[in-house]
Amino acid sequence: MNPEGLKKALESAGYTADMVDVVVLTHMHGDHIGGLMEGGVPTFPNARYVSGRVEYDAWAAMGDATFDTKMRPLADRTTMIEDGASAFSGHTAMAAFGHTPGHMVHLIESEGKSLLIAADFANHYIWSLARPDWEVKFDMDKPAAAATRKKLLDMMAIDKIPFVGYHMPWPGMGYIEPRADAYHYVPLSYQLML
Ligand SMILES: [Zn+2]
Repeated sequence: MNPEGLKKALESAGYTADMVDVVVLTHMHGDHIGGLMEGGVPTFPNARYVSGRVEYDAWAAMGDATFDTKMRPLADRTTMIEDGASAFSGHTAMAAFGHTPGHMVHLIESEGKSLLIAADFANHYIWSLARPDWEVKFDMDKPAAAATRKKLLDMMAIDKIPFVGYHMPWPGMGYIEPRADAYHYVPLSYQLML
């Protein structure tokens, strides 16, 4: 999302960009880092950044224009983390490699509740869940992405953890329901939020 879109979305939720103190990155695809900077100016002036070390290093070595203009200038404000690391209270980062070399998902726990920020572990809400082993065009390491998908789907189904999936249909948040030998997306309903 571009910086203006990001700021508007935040403001409609009652926040301003200068209130953001930590930005945790899942991976370095352009649609996930494109809003970090505009014309060399950070969108979140008071933030520190957190990125998986494997992901950062892979893109730094690749020579990617979006990474070089939006992410690399923030390197000195970025903490590089590994699988299992915690960047703030209630946060656990989990390696979910495959979609990109160091793609990470983030488990948030607060007051006995959990939410998995699952990013791009699954790109299609029907087929990625019904056939987690199917290859996806956007996955850079297809076998690793499929193994990650199965592992996360198992975890979320067994532990009944709700998740945010960036390419899931509205509201982009839901549960994983086991179905026969695969899985099914159950969007979070209005009722559960009230
Ligand atoms: Zn992606």
